[in-house]
Amino acid sequence: MTPDSDSPTVPGPTLGVVGGGQLGRMLAEAAAPLGVDVVVLDPTPDCPASVAADQILGAFDDPDGVAELAARCDVLTYEIELADPDLLDTVSEREDVPVHPSPDTLRVIEDKLDQKRTFAEAGVPVPELRRVDTVADLEAAVEAFDGVMLKARRGGYDGRGNVPVPDVDDATDALDSIGGAAMAEAFVDFDRELSVIGVVGSDEVRTFPVGENVHEEEILRETVVPARTAPAVADRAEAVAHDVLDLLDGRGVYGIELFEVDGEILVNEVAPRPHNSGHWTIEGASTSQFEQHVRAVLGWPLGSTRRRSNTVSANVLGTVDSPRDARLVNVDAVLSAPGAALHWYGKHEVRPLRKMGHVTVVGDATPGDGDGQNEEEDIDSLLRRARDVRDRLDFH
Ligand code: ADP
Repeated sequence: MTPDSDSPTVPGPTLGVVGGGQLGRMLAEAAAPLGVDVVVLDPTPDCPASVAADQILGAFDDPDGVAELAARCDVLTYEIELADPDLLDTVSEREDVPVHPSPDTLRVIEDKLDQKRTFAEAGVPVPELRRVDTVADLEAAVEAFDGVMLKARRGGYDGRGNVPVPDVDDATDALDSIGGAAMAEAFVDFDRELSVIGVVGSDEVRTFPVGENVHEEEILRETVVPARTAPAVADRAEAVAHDVLDLLDGRGVYGIELFEVDGEILVNEVAPRPHNSGHWTIEGASTSQFEQHVRAVLGWPLGSTRRRSNTVSANVLGTVDSPRDARLVNVDAVLSAPGAALHWYGKHEVRPLRKMGHVTVVGDATPGDGDGQNEEEDIDSLLRRARDVRDRLDFH
């Protein structure tokens, strides 16, 4: 048979990734069976992705590092918003290597104010928001919105860079603690947090079933799929996710975090990369978000986003008071639990609340078999099981 020039070959192209943390690790693990080699650029020696990828040692915005990455790869992507869109643009043009999602998308997303304004201007529902440069701006926003969440415009993650400001008296301290460009968002009294993982391919967009996210201290603890919400709300979440994806340029996986308030959906935040709330897809969906990202950025056909069964993922965070060498104990708790899988990220140091790994627990039955829903393990008991297994893990 004559080979079709557009059809993928195996071994395939080499994928370059800015960032080699846990997302880069799971991306490289998903790329290997497809015959796709991965090279990552990361400043930490022996970074998490290095088990499955070659590593170039360097900062995410190091011009020589990004140039070397491009020279060694056929397509570039990133797993962290600290990648530099201007540098990616320049190198992509010079080395003739495409970048997905596009640097323009990264540029809009890396500034939370630009991101939200882009969505608001297009009619996508977001919380009320204002730009904040001075204490007076912040005080006015607190009065107007009756309490705000103050957010650093750049560089925040896991709630770092966010400060609730319920009262004007807290404005000065709050703005000091952000110490840079900020935005104020109406404090949303949401009923639950949801997320949609979307995949933009060459000529189609797919979404995974809506997940429900449980946060504590603004850090994701568990993702429950399917979300425990009304079908109409899940449909609306999916529709809003499609509207968001229509506004962004470039192929790849996107994580879209949402608030559910009185049956309505507001967009909280979008990540132009695989997302923590999509880790459940490794065991719980037909194709994982990581494999989808590889397929999408290479322009290959996408896989099915179907849920195989009820699934809960639970983050393993650093339960220590101060940094120390990372050693997880009581791992038997996961290994001997039915339907449970352990994902260790290979970080050498455990720190308070640092994401060190996750546990996924899948339910017993396959949706659609027999009487369907009745055969599936109840989602509440699955969440209890996942928490129980995760909470028995500890750091030595
Ligand atoms: P990060 O980029 O650090 O993950 P997010 O903006 O996603 O920060 O916020 C982290 C968490 O903080 C959210 O998941 C939510 O629980 C809470 N949060 C964020 N914005 C608001 C808001 N406007 N009102 C109430 N809670 C919020």
